[in-house]
Amino acid sequence: MQCTSCGTIVKCPRCNVPMSYHKDTDRLVCHYCGRVAPAHECPSCHGQLQGIGAGTQKIEEEVKAMFPQASVARLDGDTTPAARQKITEDFADGAIDILIGTQMLTKGFDFKGVKLVAAIGADGLLGLLDFRADEKAVQVLSQLRGRTGRRGEKGCFVIQTAQGDHPVYNMLQGQGSPEEFESRLLEQRRDFSYPPYTRVTDLVMQDSSEQKVDNLSFLLSRKLAGMGFTSFLGPYPPLIDKVGGKFIRIIRVTLKRDSSLQRLKSRLGAAVQAFEADFKWAGHITIDVDPQ
Ligand SMILES: [Zn+2]
Ligand SMILES: [Zn+2]
Repeated sequence: MQCTSCGTIVKCPRCNVPMSYHKDTDRLVCHYCGRVAPAHECPSCHGQLQGIGAGTQKIEEEVKAMFPQASVARLDGDTTPAARQKITEDFADGAIDILIGTQMLTKGFDFKGVKLVAAIGADGLLGLLDFRADEKAVQVLSQLRGRTGRRGEKGCFVIQTAQGDHPVYNMLQGQGSPEEFESRLLEQRRDFSYPPYTRVTDLVMQDSSEQKVDNLSFLLSRKLAGMGFTSFLGPYPPLIDKVGGKFIRIIRVTLKRDSSLQRLKSRLGAAVQAFEADFKWAGHITIDVDPQ
């Protein structure tokens, strides 16, 4: 969700990740800590919040209406591999004038003579549910920019944004050095205790019974608190909270990167093993170090 007045993307004040809209409750939810917030009012300017991004299909319709003489094609998750092959060849040959696609266009294509690349609704990248959203946005947009102006030809790269002075876009426009951008990211990581200042470990629990995974994940969190692990979030359901008929809960443990790291890691592993044995729940907990 993004503010229609000031362009703000609502982030969790505790976790510094964008919050996502839940239709059923009509609220914004942080998928790291479960915090909820109102879904309609911008916390910065009290403006109206609205969902980011138009689908590729909608963009295709608009483009066809705007450029009736042009031959237009679309590449997205719905395109079959065979159609994909044909479309990329036609575009490379110049039989297609305008190609509309999802992020899949950022990688693995080498078209000659692309004069203009436009990133529509680029702010969606800033709204990824990930504390690395800004870093990933720079990567993706740089790759996209690389689609134009190749082999000495000049091209044009346009970004549609409601936050023109966002550090990510300043960086891409060559304002501010990569070093400054990096040190700003590092500062945020430090303030919110994210890697590389800490080591994040997820305890991923799953069970076919939602009640059981709720109860046991709660008990495990109590046990960890009793052992002196103070820096953890959850248990909370991840964005996709049911896979293969199993309900998933996560406890995210953050450990400081210092001399205590190895000792705490082994204590955590041993605690999980003992817990599985105590509750005859072996195979239901996975330890995910440095989750992506
Ligand atoms: Zn606003
Ligand atoms: Zn949060």
